Amino acid sequence: MGQVSANLSHIHQEISQYSSSYQRPADAVTLLCVSKTKPQTAIIEAYQDGERHFGESYAHEAAEKIQDLKAQGYNDIIWHFIGPIQSNKTRLIAENFDIVESVDRIKIAERLNDQRPAGFKPLQVLVQVNISDEDQKSGCSFTELPELIGFIEQKEHLQLRGLMGIAKETDDLAEIERSFMALKREFDKYSAQYPHFNILSIGMTHDMEAAIKCGSTEVRIGTAIFGPREYRNKEQA
Ligand SMILES: *Cc1c(COP(=O)(O)O)cnc(C)c1O
Repeated sequence: MGQVSANLSHIHQEISQYSSSYQRPADAVTLLCVSKTKPQTAIIEAYQDGERHFGESYAHEAAEKIQDLKAQGYNDIIWHFIGPIQSNKTRLIAENFDIVESVDRIKIAERLNDQRPAGFKPLQVLVQVNISDEDQKSGCSFTELPELIGFIEQKEHLQLRGLMGIAKETDDLAEIERSFMALKREFDKYSAQYPHFNILSIGMTHDMEAAIKCGSTEVRIGTAIFGPREYRNKEQA
């Protein structure tokens, strides 16, 4: 067994264990394999292990990998964009991804809608909310959320699926859980209102247990699957 497969087996065990500890259904939490900076060979190893959800943060790097893997016949991967979005990257994202988790302003939502190619399924969208009260660059505020959700909901080529949040990098577990629960409350409100609003994307390598405890439906795991990231080029700086 390769290292990636061994790591995946361990992560799935942890997901099952935490789901059961916190009274979540066995299939409540989807694993998103965060493959940014990682080579295609690592993605293929995870794919052969049964993984289908992959997350990328750098538009150019990702588009290249996605197109290469499609050309090799890997057509059933669900690609999630999870990085900060600059306006000049929206076309690349709209043309290559299935889900965008990091939509945090109207201008970006509008461009993704307008640039989604004709004939494609609507782009699935999560709104990223800034849940750490430090000055994180990405994520809308809780106050801005209703307007952004209302905007996305009206767009023909976007389908609103849920919320994403990144907790503060801290060892203070209580603080992490408070921020996850604040997002969970918003999630519950909108999921009661919109039929397809069913993804709460919280939890990374260091805070996965807290996220599952707080109602995560999707954990975004990079390091624990693929090891430390391998930054190579300017886009990733
Ligand atoms: C890189 C990244 C992850 C994965 O983080 P790990 O700590 O390596 O598990 C999750 N979410 C986002 C938004 C990321 O950019």
